[in-house]
Amino acid sequence: MKEITQDVYLIEGLRAANVYLLASDDGLALGDTGMAGDVDWIVAQIVEAGYDPSALQSIIVTHAHPDHIGGLPKLVRRFDAQVIAHQAEVPYLEGTERMPAESWMQRVTAWLGALFLGGAPQIEVAKGLEDGEVLDLLGGLRVIHTPGHTPGSMCLYQEARHILFCGDLLFNGHPFTGRGGLQYPPRLFSVDPAEVQRSARRLLDLEIDLLCPGHGDPITREAEAKIAALVGG
Ligand SMILES: [Zn+2]
Ligand SMILES: [Zn+2]
Repeated sequence: MKEITQDVYLIEGLRAANVYLLASDDGLALGDTGMAGDVDWIVAQIVEAGYDPSALQSIIVTHAHPDHIGGLPKLVRRFDAQVIAHQAEVPYLEGTERMPAESWMQRVTAWLGALFLGGAPQIEVAKGLEDGEVLDLLGGLRVIHTPGHTPGSMCLYQEARHILFCGDLLFNGHPFTGRGGLQYPPRLFSVDPAEVQRSARRLLDLEIDLLCPGHGDPITREAEAKIAALVGG
């Protein structure tokens, strides 16, 4: 596990999406969960870094794609952590609605997700968040609703420290072609790729020194300029 900046860790060695551990005086929280098979590894990493996983209070879900929530049912069963997500994503987590699947890739993803999760996820969400709400974690994390990749995709912004967790709104590197750099997620994975681009423009109003994406390494240098170069044009 690597400390990216004070109180923010990236769990290393995962195959799917990034998992972040927030370990501040406000308590222990996970940002996304990886796949079900990753849970033991994640827990071991938390222990190795000197934290008690049973103190895990919250699991923040940036969106309900299987590579981000695969470990969620197991983590919820094992620890008494509350699940929080944007309110527009709650029906997909609780299994009351199906995620819209506009492309063949999304249908395949949904099918694989159901396979790995043993059906539609049935996760009880403690709190459905609204845009602008500030979470009492890491000294204050503001919810920024950025729909497009999924209807309830969200970013979390630590305003005082200029840290942004962007989920799958932006990728650092292409997962298949290997093309590097900050970019939009592959179009086939997004419910509405045009809306992804509109949502990303909201980031132009923010001061960002550290960008923590769902895929690829965190961007620790010139994050704001890289975002502006991609999104602003
Ligand atoms: Zn993802
Ligand atoms: Zn995704």
